[in-house]
Amino acid sequence: MTHRRMGTLYVVATPIGNLGDLGTRAAEILGSVSRIAAEDTRHSSRLLGRLGIRVPMLSLHEHNEAARVTQLRQYLEAGEDVALISDAGTPLISDPGFIVVRELRAQTYPVVPVPGPSALITALSGAGLPTDRFRFGGFLPARSGPRRQALEALQERDETLVFYETPHRIRHTLDTLEAVMPDRHLVLARELTKTFETFLSGTPAALSEQLRDDPDQARGEFVVMIAGATPQADHEQQNLSADALLAALLAEGVGVKQGAAVAARLLGGRKQVWYARLQALKE
Ligand code: SAM
Repeated sequence: MTHRRMGTLYVVATPIGNLGDLGTRAAEILGSVSRIAAEDTRHSSRLLGRLGIRVPMLSLHEHNEAARVTQLRQYLEAGEDVALISDAGTPLISDPGFIVVRELRAQTYPVVPVPGPSALITALSGAGLPTDRFRFGGFLPARSGPRRQALEALQERDETLVFYETPHRIRHTLDTLEAVMPDRHLVLARELTKTFETFLSGTPAALSEQLRDDPDQARGEFVVMIAGATPQADHEQQNLSADALLAALLAEGVGVKQGAAVAARLLGGRKQVWYARLQALKE
């Protein structure tokens, strides 16, 4: 009895602007599969047309992804290879594909990633911010309250923070950052790999001003990168908490000598130093 070969789902990254960034392996696979599942078939058929690739396509987007799993399984069972692509960059990274990959993997179908461009990694590789640890937050919430809360919750994180952002929200995000992390160093990567690629850096207020002065800088696609909280900031935070504790001790009527002993016990350091600080606060 011969077993029919099962098809493979290839998860293929496509360019984020510059078509030259499509890898040789990705092009070969896109040209050899039986079908291509694309987020927006009209958009992707332009890319494929330019590459001279003609393969039947089917749409796969956030609204039909779950329903497509059965269909994709049937193609794979019939021995057909299928490529999954998104509009730009790596599928599943703030793009559809997660449900399909999870389900097909759970059912032991072959899933093979074909790496290539992603705005996240491209931006980090050119920004000059620490990359040993970073936190990718996808898109921030669209509404201003939840967006502010999301950023407040990340205020103390010491790794580089990375977000995707759209041109119509970039100014709002900078305003929110100005309120939540006014001294933080930011890098905005815009239009990566395209003609007008730019990296702007500075505090939230400085970047808002640059976008106001040159509205062209507010157009296109953005990756927002935020330097992590520094030990200096942590130190200042600790000093703030120390001052809050000393003020509370004084307000409760604890004497300077006794207060210094309490502070030294809780926060470490010499009693004399806390005595001097309490004395200064009292005056
Ligand atoms: N899957 C894609 C990837 O791997 O990069 C991301 C898709 S997500 C729907 C689109 C967002 O990615 C944009 O809003 C923007 O924040 C970012 N992006 C995509 N292409 C970009 C580019 N050329 N320059 C800057 N940001 C880009």
